[in-house]
Amino acid sequence: MSKLLIVGTVAFDAIETPFGKTDKILGGAATYISLSASQFGIGSGIVSVVGGDFPKEYLQRLNARNISTEGVEIIEEGKTFFWSGKYHNDLNTRDTLITDLNVLADFNPVVPANFKDAKFLMLGNLHPAVQMAVIKQIPIRPKLVVLDTMNFWMDNALDQLMEVIAKIDVITINDEEARQLSGEYSLVKAAQKIHKMGPKYVVIKKGEHGALLFNNGDVFFAPALPLEEVFDPTGAGDTFAGGFIGYLAKTEDISFENMKRAVIAGSNLASFCVEKFGTERMENLTNEEIEKRLLEFKLLTQFDIELS
Ligand code: AMP
Repeated sequence: MSKLLIVGTVAFDAIETPFGKTDKILGGAATYISLSASQFGIGSGIVSVVGGDFPKEYLQRLNARNISTEGVEIIEEGKTFFWSGKYHNDLNTRDTLITDLNVLADFNPVVPANFKDAKFLMLGNLHPAVQMAVIKQIPIRPKLVVLDTMNFWMDNALDQLMEVIAKIDVITINDEEARQLSGEYSLVKAAQKIHKMGPKYVVIKKGEHGALLFNNGDVFFAPALPLEEVFDPTGAGDTFAGGFIGYLAKTEDISFENMKRAVIAGSNLASFCVEKFGTERMENLTNEEIEKRLLEFKLLTQFDIELS
């Protein structure tokens, strides 16, 4: 089993969906990624930054799941990254109301010594300059580097983002972001253009419509499980990414065939994340529930048809 290093935001989120509203709760890309990857029992570590306003108890909740927060710098006099979003009635689209970078604005990440040999590196959503600084601190190139990003960084730091994209193996972005990054409406053409920017594998997340995995000419599609209860989609993309890389780190197999399984593992975990507000569902998930739903996934997608 390989070590997984995760860089990304550890944040306060305030969320509004048609079903309710939260005050500042635990959120952030690295939080969701690490909670998701922890379902595979692998040791992971986060590189991030929070302010003195961030409850220590939140970090302890991560530590309890074998997630090291040694690389999470605490700037006592600073404020934690804050994001607020409001979902539309269809829950597929949302408006960002507030993005306060706070301590993230001038963060210099430091990779803890015992994670410098991480074989799996997840560059979660945050400033591409921070993602690059982490890449540079790892002396031997990891076996797999996965990047997740969003339109905010395409709008605000595109040149730096393109430099990071050139160095990674897998990019996971949503359909709108893939269109923005490539300038192509067709997702097939978008994936082709993104391949040319560097990544050998392109994963395009389509929310409740599943996810596509492209590897040059090859494509794989995983549906999202049709769910009865969807309360809050926040973190679903990160949970998907955490499940994807967590599965690969556990199995230590980065072939395209195994990546297909990783896409299913990520989709499976994301299906739980949306059932409750924030991280609640991910923090109270059992192995039995995960296995049961994997079987549902299998039944949903399996069919037998004669080809003439
Ligand atoms: P997702 O719903 O998977 O796209 O991720 C939602 C999480 O991303 C929230 O917990 C936010 O704290 C975090 N987030 C929102 N905007 C940004 C941003 N610009 N950079 C990094 N993380 C962000």
